[in-house]
Amino acid sequence: MSTMMNTPLVMSTLMDRGPMLSPDVEIVTRFRDRIHRTNYAEVGKRARQLANALTKLGVREGDRIATFAWNTYRHLELYYAVPCMGAVLHTLNLRLSPADLEYIVNHAEDKIIFVDEDLLPLLERLIGKIPTVEQIVVLSNSGEFRTAFPSALDYEKLIADESTEFTWPALDENAPMGLCYTSGTTGKPKGVMYTHRSNYLHTITGALPDLMGLQRSDVVMAVVPMFHANAWGMPYSGMMIGIKQVFPGPMMDGPSICQLIQDEKVTFTAGVPTIWLGVMNELRQNPGKYDLSSLNTMVCGGSAPPRALIDWFETNLGIEFVQAWGMTETSPLGTVTRLKPKINNWSRERQLDIKQRAGICAPGLELRILDANDQEVPHDGAAMGRLLIRGPWIASTYYKEGPTDEKFPGGWLDTGDVATIDEEGYMAIADRSKDLIKSGGEWISSVDLENAIMAIPGVAEAAVIAAFHPKWQERPLACVVPHPGVTITRDEIIGHLEKQFAKWWMPDEVVFIESIPKTSVGKFDKKVLRARFADFKLPG
Ligand code: ADP
Repeated sequence: MSTMMNTPLVMSTLMDRGPMLSPDVEIVTRFRDRIHRTNYAEVGKRARQLANALTKLGVREGDRIATFAWNTYRHLELYYAVPCMGAVLHTLNLRLSPADLEYIVNHAEDKIIFVDEDLLPLLERLIGKIPTVEQIVVLSNSGEFRTAFPSALDYEKLIADESTEFTWPALDENAPMGLCYTSGTTGKPKGVMYTHRSNYLHTITGALPDLMGLQRSDVVMAVVPMFHANAWGMPYSGMMIGIKQVFPGPMMDGPSICQLIQDEKVTFTAGVPTIWLGVMNELRQNPGKYDLSSLNTMVCGGSAPPRALIDWFETNLGIEFVQAWGMTETSPLGTVTRLKPKINNWSRERQLDIKQRAGICAPGLELRILDANDQEVPHDGAAMGRLLIRGPWIASTYYKEGPTDEKFPGGWLDTGDVATIDEEGYMAIADRSKDLIKSGGEWISSVDLENAIMAIPGVAEAAVIAAFHPKWQERPLACVVPHPGVTITRDEIIGHLEKQFAKWWMPDEVVFIESIPKTSVGKFDKKVLRARFADFKLPG
């Protein structure tokens, strides 16, 4: 017989901590033309005003309330109010095509969409095509927006006269609270519905020292968008701890990010590799321009960060560069790379080997890597297998779909990634299974080859894809983007790779292109590259 209370794991108990413990702590937003400052007390009150306004608009528990917005304090208020009042926060990815957006809004049956004023033109393309949406609310600084949406409301006017008191309803911990669609890198977008329980556990665990490691003394800046994968949980864990939060708004270029880190004394930031490449380039081109001494931790995930990038930031800024892996289906935190103490004594190169791995599994989650016969492959850092994961904040099915055996075999999520796990428990993504190069039945990791090519001086970006081969079915084709003004040859690239890889891993050909196509969240879009080189004839 248990003697413990069974209080439900609901988000309001975490979210109210910020305003309660840190009413005067700042929440800063960078807009295009100015910096906006507020604090937890204000955000707490405005979230309650918003909940009152939404109630008057007829919002009921379980209703889907969508956002189409940058990282700002208003988006944080929506992150706060919508789940706590029992509705579902549906973050729309603003980089999706109009066709995908239309599909997602209709599939989710969104009732209201909150949209940043400068994003109205993107959303207006859906006019007449989203019948479930009863109301558009515009997040505007001036209140003087123009839109083709009939009877759109202004956010500030909507909440202005509402009471700052609102009692969050008692909710079941398994009630839905958030909805996010995969960005469709590998097919039609699929909905992942988070519950209070899943997000509560993700928020608490994610903040642990060996994971994101946020604490009261931090100033956190999520550069990763709030419109995709919960901004890796930072808005929630930030509220829970009550730390200063800095939002970059629409300005995610290198100079703006550097300026904001300096001015707001950011200690902790997180984003995808493309963002950090932009920051590195800005710092390299302007030595001494910025004082980034406040920064301690830079988290990087979403795709594999090049080794040279990790090394550059740690060496030049003296910060800890922390890799993380996850996906929409995993809330998203799955693994984080923090070094075990004994690794501190290893050589720098060996440490970088570990830092290049995606990390150790969060407590509460389980990982497996399986071969084609569903047998566990050895955790030796070399053997590759399909990566499966399970745990309390991992999707068990997609929204409005039953669990398929292909995606959810035996109660696990098949991530669609191929990975290795080393003796210390550090997982590394070798590839998405669709990107893996299957050469005569053996697997070649495109990610490993790309990383090695991107470490060659003069190379800006590189993607390796499978090209058709009459004998081996598939062989690696390297697509390389040199830095502007730099000439680099095929033989130089192969020469570098030969030092690191077995002969049968060598790309059969190197092509030089002007840029690597990117997905809606800034990852290399290999679907597009594969289509472009579908008829490519390999030499020999
Ligand atoms: P989608 O692009 O389908 O929307 P997500 O945005 O949820 O998917 O991204 C999840 C995928 O991103 C993972 O399955 C993995 O392939 C890739 N990914 C995430 N983090 C890393 C990492 N640290 N290294 C390599 N790949 C990563």
